[in-house]
Amino acid sequence: MTNHLYDTLFAARETSEKTFLIDNDGEMSYRAFLERVNQLANALIESGLQTGDRVAVQAQKSKAQLALYVATVKAGGVYLPLNTAYTAHELEYFITNAAASIIVVDAGNAEKVKDIADRQKASLLTLNQDETGSLTGLADQQGTAFTAIARGLEDLGAILYTSGTTGRSKGAQLCHRNLVSNTQILKDFWQFTQEDVLLHMLPIYHTHGLFVASNLLAYVGGTMIFLPKFDIEAAIAWMPKATSMMGVPTFYTRLLADDRFDKALSAHMRLFISGSAPLLAETHKQFEARTDKKILERYGMTETNMSTSNPYDGDRIAGTVGVPLPGVDVRIADEKGNLLPRGEIGIIELKGDNVFTGYWQMPEKTAESFRPDGYFITGDMARMDENGYITIVGRDKDLIISGGLNVYPKEVEGLIDAIEGVSESAVIAAPHKDFGEAVVAVIVRRNGQLTEKDIQQSLQDRLAKFKQPKAVIFLDELPRNTMGKVQKAALRKSYEKLFASV
Ligand code: AMP
Repeated sequence: MTNHLYDTLFAARETSEKTFLIDNDGEMSYRAFLERVNQLANALIESGLQTGDRVAVQAQKSKAQLALYVATVKAGGVYLPLNTAYTAHELEYFITNAAASIIVVDAGNAEKVKDIADRQKASLLTLNQDETGSLTGLADQQGTAFTAIARGLEDLGAILYTSGTTGRSKGAQLCHRNLVSNTQILKDFWQFTQEDVLLHMLPIYHTHGLFVASNLLAYVGGTMIFLPKFDIEAAIAWMPKATSMMGVPTFYTRLLADDRFDKALSAHMRLFISGSAPLLAETHKQFEARTDKKILERYGMTETNMSTSNPYDGDRIAGTVGVPLPGVDVRIADEKGNLLPRGEIGIIELKGDNVFTGYWQMPEKTAESFRPDGYFITGDMARMDENGYITIVGRDKDLIISGGLNVYPKEVEGLIDAIEGVSESAVIAAPHKDFGEAVVAVIVRRNGQLTEKDIQQSLQDRLAKFKQPKAVIFLDELPRNTMGKVQKAALRKSYEKLFASV
């Protein structure tokens, strides 16, 4: 028996002197990286790791942290990366819920986590951004050989907790088959080869930067310019050395806001990919006008890896997330799971090797999330056109029902964003005595003179009365998480009493 993920994605590069990672400190070959993986795997075993144990990691992005992911999988463990923004109080939930047996945190947080580790009888190790800490210290003393622990297709490789906008966040269990199959599909669909040099500025506690980017580049034998985070100066400095980039929409709006980002700077790039949050059609168009290249937008989620994508060679259509990836069955259904005709708005349901195996120790939540025929209910609302292209119109819980009529926030946001002087908007519901819910527009304006009246007037002839905002709020910026997603739940909470006196 083999270790499916390690053997398929990494093993072939063990003796390769090709550069895998580049950063300001220099270059790291595949051989050096995979030797570090082996030292870390030995260190994990020495710290008590048993096959199937969870290794919870909250650390600043570093090459050692990426190696720790591969080491955990190779040593038969289950990797559990945690958002660096979580407080010690939040960590307690994840660590105890997942019953982690090894916990790795930045030394600065070790004191806060110590009690949790003791209660859990877990080993606590540290890993700092500069790669110092007790984990790397222990790894330094280990040999550079390690025989992979056998893990099959259905065995878990990772648990990633969903961002959880309602209730407790859930641990999405990803098995070796989920991760490997998606990497193999993306290689062909996006035509990645060993010639690729990927500009990597995403966090590695999330599926996008960890699996989509890192698994794929290792699998094809490419190189990653591995930077701590998105930084406009670094992006501009490194771009001429890259061939491809994966980003969230904010990366693209920030690049476009800088005049140094132009056709010449991006001449060497064969592919810009966007995902994790909706890319405005306007950004897609501005990008093409500036660079002559079309951003390739794709759609996925923690639970499903990547599910749809605009094509590499065919039409990349602004405002859409493309077509189902090979091997992924996508259907649009009503809330009861009945298939809807093409063009109608419903919930995306999907099935395939990419779809996770269920939520960690939450059988009811898992059962609620799947149809009896195995389709996963994503909660994303969308329509599919006659060519199979999918347009996402929002999350089902973002849907507004005003006076019994459905309002899709995306439609209203699109019209507001097109108003001269508007930079971006988020349309949400606020409880309302007469209408049940009322439409509220939260707007970031470029032009400070723009008033609520201007907005209402622009929408008057373009939108049915029930879809028009009953209130307009101007903010300096929209609340976003690190993956660029607008935090609509937070906005709804802020304005839940807006119509209380109506
Ligand atoms: P996460 O599990 O954090 O990756 O979040 C997944 C969610 O992000 C999906 O369910 C969608 O709501 C959203 N999402 C991801 N990619 C896109 C996209 N290209 N356009 C719109 N929403 C997206």
